[in-house]
Amino acid sequence: MSIVPLKCNETSDFSKQVACWRTRDEIFIAPDGQVLPCNGWNGYAKKYNMNFENLKNMKLKDILTKSNYLSTVLTTVQDLFDRNKECRNCEYREKCGGGHCRVIAFAGTGDFYGKDESTCAFFKGGYEDKIKKFMNS
Ligand code: SF4
Repeated sequence: MSIVPLKCNETSDFSKQVACWRTRDEIFIAPDGQVLPCNGWNGYAKKYNMNFENLKNMKLKDILTKSNYLSTVLTTVQDLFDRNKECRNCEYREKCGGGHCRVIAFAGTGDFYGKDESTCAFFKGGYEDKIKKFMNS
């Protein structure tokens, strides 16, 4: 058995880092036994028939070895850029990486690989520059 190490995102190559670091620090198990990347997927996963495994049907060690759950939490920034033209071509791509949260991205765009509109508003709204200006004042 080979379980992917939690610190798999320790790389200097930004694009190879996982899209969400939080999912590599914790696991969320829904009340019905479904294993989800985080509590934010609770509800969405059912509503949109997302194919995450359930502890009633699969051992945790198997879910942590080969599963849709594991593939999802190992989604990299490059995976997002490969499927999301707007983020791939964005001037903030190296700082933003397509956004902070895949649940917010999915909720806003209907696409797991879509942009996270909250992070997008931060960068494109000029908030980074405002914070820098504030910190330097
Ligand atoms: S979420 Fe918005 S700011 Fe971030 S990379 Fe995508 S388009 Fe750019």
